[in-house]
Amino acid sequence: MLILPITHMKTLSEVGPLSEHPRITREKKTIDAMVHIYCKDHHDTQKGELCPECSKFMDYAKMRLDKCPFQEKKNTCGKCLIHCYQSPMKEQAKVVMRYSGPRMLTRHPGLAMHHVVDGFRKPPKKAVKKQ
Ligand code: SF4
Repeated sequence: MLILPITHMKTLSEVGPLSEHPRITREKKTIDAMVHIYCKDHHDTQKGELCPECSKFMDYAKMRLDKCPFQEKKNTCGKCLIHCYQSPMKEQAKVVMRYSGPRMLTRHPGLAMHHVVDGFRKPPKKAVKKQ
């Protein structure tokens, strides 16, 4: 019988849904980077770690991306016409984006450039059917 060591297994949130579009994967990387920048500078966490509050926010943001009705056609969440976040998380998102957005240009320039380009997309009016 083959026994896999638990330390080498990835969680579902690390792997992502099998049908995930690369755009959604990139969006998750972007939010991941932004939350890490914010948490390290505000909650004195070590590089690569998150405090429980920021970890909860990031899980929520990734869950919203999984459920986003626009999927790969989405604009940036900040320009979304429906904005699906619940109120406390919406406020948290604004705080994190306001702080980490400008810092992304120097720390994660590739993701930052994609985010800027995505912001020029027209906000979709219709939802995308998930495969
Ligand atoms: S805020 Fe808009 S674009 Fe962002 S995940 Fe929610 S529905 Fe999708």
